[in-house]
Amino acid sequence: MRKHFTSIAFLAGLALAPASWAQAPAAAPVREISKIAGEVYRFRNNNHFSVFAVTPAGVIATDPINADAARWLKAEIAQRFRQPVRYLVYSHDHADHISGGEVFADTALVVAHENAKSAILGEKRPTALPQITFRDRMTIELGGTTLELIYVGRNHSDNSIVLRFPRERLLFAVDFIPVNSYTFRNFPDAYMPDWIESLRRVEAIDFDTLVPGHGALGSKANVTMFREYLQDLRAEVTRHAREGKSLDEIKQLVTLPKYAAWGPKDWFPLNIEGMHRLVQGQRVANP
Ligand SMILES: [Zn+2]
Repeated sequence: MRKHFTSIAFLAGLALAPASWAQAPAAAPVREISKIAGEVYRFRNNNHFSVFAVTPAGVIATDPINADAARWLKAEIAQRFRQPVRYLVYSHDHADHISGGEVFADTALVVAHENAKSAILGEKRPTALPQITFRDRMTIELGGTTLELIYVGRNHSDNSIVLRFPRERLLFAVDFIPVNSYTFRNFPDAYMPDWIESLRRVEAIDFDTLVPGHGALGSKANVTMFREYLQDLRAEVTRHAREGKSLDEIKQLVTLPKYAAWGPKDWFPLNIEGMHRLVQGQRVANP
């Protein structure tokens, strides 16, 4: 299904350390374009990924990742597909995914959730401001392709959206549904238990292949398993906190062997720490 047909470009001296997730690359960024299915392709910049669809009327692109990566992607799309980028859709406001949007602003309309626009402005994200925003749902139609943008509630931010490609039965979702992985460190910018509810909404969407912003492709089973992980982690941390255990004790007590095959291993104690912060924020001590 995944056919790697393109080169990997090594651009010496242009490495930008990603703001989050995986380790910063020591040298040049690894960049590639691979076909997922139909007209949908995956763009990789080191450990960050986005997707784009090539239609006869132009390209619908998603997260630009950073300005250098966006310039590389723009040139590759122009050379291989001879189509301009007509839409640029941001998955959520975090800078390690959506920096560099201005690179596509000459031909593309920038689309994001309405909460993303205020976060991009307020946090001074180095990217183009969204020109089109929406609250619940939006459809993009271009060159016979229909792409659905769906807001599933707050999770890893208050503005994460999912993109459904109905023809290819793909769903692009960034940072809030890790595939066989713990979530990033200590739950920065997290909303709980909204996150769990947002995963239930994703489970109700019609798709087969989950395309994340990091790591390998997955399926709906990965959504369910990650939702169960959040529920299990929250329940265990809550139970021990209510028994008066300290954070250090809770880190020893919570093991969750069902997810022991996941990585990175050093994120699991950080996940416990973050969940403890979120749980404690929703508790009040007895007088
Ligand atoms: Zn993020």
